[in-house]
This record gives sequence, C-alpha cells and structure tokens, in this order.
Amino acid sequence: MTSHIFGRSTKGVLPVAVAGDGCYLIDAEDRRYLDGSGGAAVSCLGHSNAAVRAALHGQIDRLAFAHTGFFTSEPAEMLADRLIANAPAGIDRVYLVSGGSEAVEASIKLARQYFLEIGEPNRHRVIARRQSYHGNTLGALAAGGNAWRRAQFAPLLADTTHISPCYEYRDRHDGESQTAYGLRVANELEAEILRLGPKTVMAFIAEPVVGATSGAVPAVPGYLKRIREICDQYGVLLILDEVMCGMGRTGHIFACLEDGVSPDMLTIAKGLGAGYQPIGALLTSGKIYEAIAAGSGFFQHGHTYMGHAMAATAANAVLGEILDGGLLGRVREQGTKLDAALRAEFGQHPHVGDIRGRGLFRGIELVANRETKATFDPKRGLAARVKKEAFAAGLICYPMSGTIDGQNGDHILLAPPFIIEDAQIDELVGKLSTAITKALAA
Ligand code: PLP
Repeated sequence: MTSHIFGRSTKGVLPVAVAGDGCYLIDAEDRRYLDGSGGAAVSCLGHSNAAVRAALHGQIDRLAFAHTGFFTSEPAEMLADRLIANAPAGIDRVYLVSGGSEAVEASIKLARQYFLEIGEPNRHRVIARRQSYHGNTLGALAAGGNAWRRAQFAPLLADTTHISPCYEYRDRHDGESQTAYGLRVANELEAEILRLGPKTVMAFIAEPVVGATSGAVPAVPGYLKRIREICDQYGVLLILDEVMCGMGRTGHIFACLEDGVSPDMLTIAKGLGAGYQPIGALLTSGKIYEAIAAGSGFFQHGHTYMGHAMAATAANAVLGEILDGGLLGRVREQGTKLDAALRAEFGQHPHVGDIRGRGLFRGIELVANRETKATFDPKRGLAARVKKEAFAAGLICYPMSGTIDGQNGDHILLAPPFIIEDAQIDELVGKLSTAITKALAA
C-alpha cells in the first residue's frame, strides 16, 4: 500500500484501524486488539462510549467552533466549572488547549509572565527531573529529562536543570525508609534552587506518577509534600504534569489528591478527551490568574483551536462518565485486580524486577537479573520486541527502553480503559506473558 502519510516511522506498514468496540480496536482485516494501554493512556472509556458519541453528535449540529478571541462557549464554560469543582485547593482557572505538550508549553510561558507581572523579572529558570517526559514541543521537551528524547534537539532547548526522579525501586538505599528516601530526593530541589540562585528560579515541574519514560513510577509518600514546602519557601511555582496520570487514571480525578498536595499549575490532556477529541488543559491557581488580571490583563499566548467547542463537549461527556458513572471506584477496584493478576503471573518471573503503579496505571520493569537488578543490553531492543510480540498476539501495550537513564532498562506500561472487565484483565496478562516469553527467547 502506498501512503502519503508522514508517520512516526518510515519503516514498516501499519494496519488500518477501522472501528472500536469497548476495550478493543478492530483493523481492516477484522483483527481485534485488546487496548491494554489506551494507546498511550488516552482511551479511558474504551472506543465506543455511547454518551460521548451522543454528546458530540448533538454539539456538531449546534456549534462546532467559535474563535476564543471573540467568544466563549457553553461547553467550554461548563467544562471549566466542572474541572474546578473537583480540582485541588487553590486551583481556580482553566486554560483550554488541544493536547499535553500545549498545556505544558502554556504553563512554562505563564510562569514566566507571572513573575514579570509581579515584578520579579529575574525568575526564568525551570527545574525538572531526570527521566521525566513533558511533551515534544521545544519548551516542553526542554523541561523533560529524558536524555534520549532530548539529545538531537539539545542545541534548540532552553536551559533547564534536572534533579533525581523519585524512583524507589532503583534508588532507595538498603535500610533507608521510604520516608527518608523521599526526603533525600526531594531535598535535591532545595539544593538545586540554592545552586542556581533562588531569585532566578520560576518553576519546578514533575509528574506525580511518571508515565511514558519510566513505567508508572509513583512518588513515595511524603515526597510531594516536601517538594511543595520547598517551592513555598523559595517562591517557586509548582507545576504538576498530570497529562498521563490525571483524569482518574490512578483512581483519583487528579493524581496529586492522593498525595495531599495542591500545585500552582496542573496540566491534563489524554484521558480528558479520552481519544474522542484532542483536548488538554492548564489549570492554574487563582493567585496566578489574579496577578495577570491586576497587571497586563492578558496572557500573551494562544492557539487557534483552544477552547474548541467539540473538544470541550467530548471532555464534558468524559468527565460525566468518570464522575457520575462511578468510574473512579472502578479504577481502584480493577486496578487492584490488575495488580494482583500481574503479581500472580510475574511475581516470581526471573526477568521481572518490579511491578508498580496506582489504579489502572501499572508498570513492569524487566531485568536481566532480579538480584542485581542488572538491565538487558540496550542493543537487544527488548521493549520494542515485547511491543511487537504483544501486538501480534492482539494486545496493545506501551513498552519502552531507557527506563533508568534514557538508554538502559526496559519497562512495559499498562493503562487499560476504566471499563475493563475481569476476563479482559486475564486476557491482557495472558497475552502479555506470551509476548514477554517470545521477546526474551528472540
Ligand atoms: N506530559 C506527559 C506526562 C505526557 O505523558 C505526555 C505525553 O505522553 C505529554 C506531556 C505530551 O502530551 P501530548 O502528546 O498530548 O502533546
């Protein structure tokens, strides 16, 4: 088949997706794939949700788009109200965009403008964590700490410094308590702020549960609270990136609610539109909004499609399904079952070093040796092999190499739809087991 699509890769031919049915995607050859990762933690309601489809059909006949330079819209207003009603304390405003990178990009620019508006023009530095992913646009990529993703674009990236992630499996010392470990790595933020000069730092950005680059790695208890304290002490804005882990994925509508921490800004996308529409959002504190309102009165930013009425309609319907349909409880319940099934299948596996995550956001880290935690030779491309074998078996999952430092380590990320049934959890784990066995044998 010839194609004029400039896809993610120039190699290979992809099947054509033609339909969705609950947790399954169906291709043109009528093959069914269990969507064990919601693509990349996107399709939280599966692929054929009736309420979202009906809402979109209804909206398209009323209004598709009205430029936000001229109008607001009912769906956008409704969405902002609902997000704020459920948001962490202090969060009061919603800036609607079209995806995760746009939300992160907006957060960085808003942080800079905020400090200009309040008369602290020297604040311009961003601190983030190694092995984080915040998106692929240049600002978001600069914030991210994944060495492999950054390498070839390094000359184009704004100067950002990176501290350690909170990665208990590899970095907590023997005999060190979880709390002591969390404090030790959180305190790296203070050291970095002091090194850079406290009055030059504008923001710290982190994923509460690290997704794509590390495989569902949650912060240990107390870590984010200490981070919040340090940010408060030095007047640094805390941006939590919940593009992947937010919108109910962990069993809480915002992941940071479980950690008892409120950020100054919070980014979401992926599960917000659940794949039915491209949409993201930057949520900010009332304090930041008031500073802009009291100053220039406008945020010098914007995108043509921000606040799109169809996208906001989809997100309203998605939120309705999650919040009114009892899906948060279901995520916790099915998440516990998925965790138990993974532990039953892989708990004693010689090449599974760690099983982790929250809710329906789970990761498995593959190792050459369980005792030493030695990794496989990156040349083996183990994660890519698992992805290929799983897909051949009819399972979509999200394996990635470079778990530790952008180069070494392999993990598999699982983020199935919230509607996953018990039998489908068994199917997922069974197919994953087959895929891992075949990939290891290759
Ligand atoms: N932030 C996080 C934590 C992500 O996982 C991603 C995407 O994987 C992004 C930002 C970028 O989102 P998008 O791909 O929608 O631009």
